[in-house]
Amino acid sequence: MSDISIIGGGHASGKLVNNLHKLEFKGNINIFSEEEHLPYERPPLSKDFLYGSKKFEDFKIDINLEKVNYYFSTKINKIDFINKIIYDQNNNDYSYDKLVFANGSSPKRIFEENIEGVNYLRTLNDSVKIKSSIEISKDIILLGAGYISLEISSTIKKNYPNKEVTIIDNSEKILLRNSNDDLREFIFKYQKKNNVNFLFNTSFQKLIRNEDGSIKSLILDDNKILACDLLVVGIGVYPNTDILKGTMLEEKNGIKVNEYCETAVKDVFALGDVALSKNNFLNKHIREESWNNAEKQSDILAKNLTGTKTAYDEIPWFWTDQFDQNFQILGEINNFDNKILRNYSENKNTIIYFKNKKIIGAVAVNNGRDISIIRKIIKKNIVPNMEKIQNKDINLKELL
Ligand SMILES: Cc1cc2nc3c(=O)[nH]c(=O)nc-3n(C[C@H](O)[C@H](O)[C@H](O)COP(=O)(O)OP(=O)(O)OC[C@H]3O[C@@H](n4cnc5c(N)ncnc54)[C@H](O)[C@@H]3O)c2cc1C
Repeated sequence: MSDISIIGGGHASGKLVNNLHKLEFKGNINIFSEEEHLPYERPPLSKDFLYGSKKFEDFKIDINLEKVNYYFSTKINKIDFINKIIYDQNNNDYSYDKLVFANGSSPKRIFEENIEGVNYLRTLNDSVKIKSSIEISKDIILLGAGYISLEISSTIKKNYPNKEVTIIDNSEKILLRNSNDDLREFIFKYQKKNNVNFLFNTSFQKLIRNEDGSIKSLILDDNKILACDLLVVGIGVYPNTDILKGTMLEEKNGIKVNEYCETAVKDVFALGDVALSKNNFLNKHIREESWNNAEKQSDILAKNLTGTKTAYDEIPWFWTDQFDQNFQILGEINNFDNKILRNYSENKNTIIYFKNKKIIGAVAVNNGRDISIIRKIIKKNIVPNMEKIQNKDINLKELL
């Protein structure tokens, strides 16, 4: 039985190990993790954990440490695919039989140096730091109107309705990526209702610091000065492919894998945020930054590593929680030729998107049940009865 070495100790890695054990994998498993914590799921970092209603124990992924060699605080820096050796930050070398990249993605930074008061949110430690800063900050600015900033603004306002929170974005609207106008409208409504401030079409040109070096204010493009004692930057992430520079797997937008999570190099695999994966539903390679992708690819890869060849067959799906509202996004929600709104109540809606009479995607507000049914309809390739879909009193299950 060959040994498996995994670079990264996050969601995909933790679940992969547990799935391998469930499938009675008997070889050695080595995990190299830059972080000092056991693997955990990240969604609560901007939501319940930041808010205070969940503890680390609630979302950590329990793995049996007696059955793995866990290298905490160990960053892999170099890979030699020919001789099957990886090297850590201290140049210690480790040989492998099979290698898995589960090293995720990192937030794009605006400054190389660390500045007191300027934060990024990716890890448990980041969330702990931001949480304690929120308590004592007066002027909070979130840079970038993406999912992370919108979740943080909602968490802050739930805890501290009177704190000033301003989101700045250099485009003219929220959620430029992975969204559409229907979803933007739903989400923006809740953000405005809860008094989050927005400044669009602007960015900052300079940061002013206090004598101790910490952040004091931002000067915007139009020379307006905004006081700021806490800045959280949420302007997107990039896949952690730096360690592949100069190797045969070098790729800017992720590590390319087929639907079995196999790379072009024998015995080398990738999954989760770092993987540029073949998606059969969209018939192209995409990099998904979602909980579901990490979860499901870890299941597929465990099967493939233990001899049951199984293809990844998921329709892209993710959710965001803001102001106690749950928004779910399934499949393709942009290139549609028709759409139907099923409006159940003010706070419960589903919009279904069609192309050539078939459902290609959906957005649901507080209605995960519809998403589960629509996923089945798409997977079964059903041409749905439009009259039934238009009648919100007919359960979508009838279409199956
Ligand atoms: C704040 C936040 C909220 C989110 N909310 C949602 C949500 O509501 N819904 C949703 O669908 N998704 C959400 N996501 C996305 C989801 O959490 C990610 O898609 C998922 O964590 C990806 O798992 P992964 O294992 O690929 O990467 P990660 O969980 O990021 O794990 C990668 C690990 O690899 C380590 N690493 C990197 N490079 C090296 C190296 N060279 N050597 C050793 N270790 C290394 C990293 O430190 C990290 O521990 C959220 C993410 C964040 C950050």
